[in-house]
Amino acid sequence: MKPLTPLPVEQIPETLPRTQAHARPDSWSDVLVVGAGPTGMACAIEVQKAGFKALVIDKGCLVNSIYHYPTNMVFFTTPELLEIGDIPFTTALAKPTRLEALEYYRRVAEHFHLHIRLYEWVKTITGEDGEFRVTTTDRHSAIHDYRARKIVVATGYYDLANQIEVPGEDLDKVFHYYREPHPYFDTDVVVVGGKNSAAETALDLWRHGARVTLVHRGAQMHDHVKYWVRPDIDNRIKAGEIAAHFKSSVQEIGGDYVVLHTPSGPLHLKNDFVFALTGYHPDYDFLRSVGIELSSEQMRPVCDPENLESNVPGIYVAGVIVAGSRTNEIFIENGRFHGKLIAAHISEKLGRGNPNFPLDAT
Ligand SMILES: Cc1cc2nc3c(=O)[nH]c(=O)nc-3n(C[C@H](O)[C@H](O)[C@H](O)COP(=O)(O)OP(=O)(O)OC[C@H]3O[C@@H](n4cnc5c(N)ncnc54)[C@H](O)[C@@H]3O)c2cc1C
Repeated sequence: MKPLTPLPVEQIPETLPRTQAHARPDSWSDVLVVGAGPTGMACAIEVQKAGFKALVIDKGCLVNSIYHYPTNMVFFTTPELLEIGDIPFTTALAKPTRLEALEYYRRVAEHFHLHIRLYEWVKTITGEDGEFRVTTTDRHSAIHDYRARKIVVATGYYDLANQIEVPGEDLDKVFHYYREPHPYFDTDVVVVGGKNSAAETALDLWRHGARVTLVHRGAQMHDHVKYWVRPDIDNRIKAGEIAAHFKSSVQEIGGDYVVLHTPSGPLHLKNDFVFALTGYHPDYDFLRSVGIELSSEQMRPVCDPENLESNVPGIYVAGVIVAGSRTNEIFIENGRFHGKLIAAHISEKLGRGNPNFPLDAT
């Protein structure tokens, strides 16, 4: 048999993903926006309107957070307050559904011909003002490099759930997100939390045949519960249709039980599923890795409130992350205006963009 001779190095096929030595021409932009939520989209639209080339990168689908909200969710905001880029959003009823919002934001992305890379996770941002380098990984673990003069971080808060930190939280019967009621028909479900998500989830599960116990550390449901949801949940609890334990917490979760800590002592309940809906928080580690400083108490990114430029020159923060851990201060209604502030500041710094972009620019 003929002995195997090794291939010359230049003939060895490339099978492993490698970092690109040079960013591709289309991976260059004036402004790279991390996160294709409503805020990230609004930022891209405004900088594009100012004549700059914008690129948006998201680790999931377009408006990934909204896509993952409960399937039949209705916004508390009327449609005109969710509008971006001055594109009208009209709905048949007073409040838009999640499906209508998904439709709207898809249409807006198409209307403005936004450059968006979906399913790419931004891992690192290096370099400096005017010459940033951004590295992403895609679903196949391939690495991609981008270059940009300015960066906008609009990464939201919905990816990281606040943990209740009790034994058993890692069981696969415990969820931090709620989608729809059907799988929980005729089962014993505990819902942890006292705000909107907990109230609406408890009601939806109960209406679709689950036996629901609500557990909240406060003395009653939170004041922020929507005014039209509040009487509904209060009345279901008063009527004993939804069991509720206030000033209580979950102590332990087992395969077919939970143990509660209540004012009258420990309570052992039969249980099939737990929804721990105790809020979400921004990815502080990612913000720190970029060099953004966070305030010690509320983890707010240090930034100029006039233009949202962070302590790292050339890197802006936008949307709900601006509020740090106070995620109820900024929502789509007010975060959507961050794009205009940032675009005005970038125009001031970079001068006028190409007024014909994106019509004749690539
Ligand atoms: C159930 C529910 C109902 C709500 N109802 C309303 C309402 O009626 N009205 C209202 O105004 N607000 C409402 N909100 C709040 C609102 O949805 C959020 O405040 C809003 O989505 C924040 O927008 P954002 O663009 O800042 O962040 P997000 O919408 O969370 O977008 C952030 C994006 O960044 C992406 N991302 C994160 N990290 C990376 C990374 N490293 N690389 C690439 N991409 C990344 C995420 O995938 C995501 O798509 C509601 C929230 C919830 C949970």
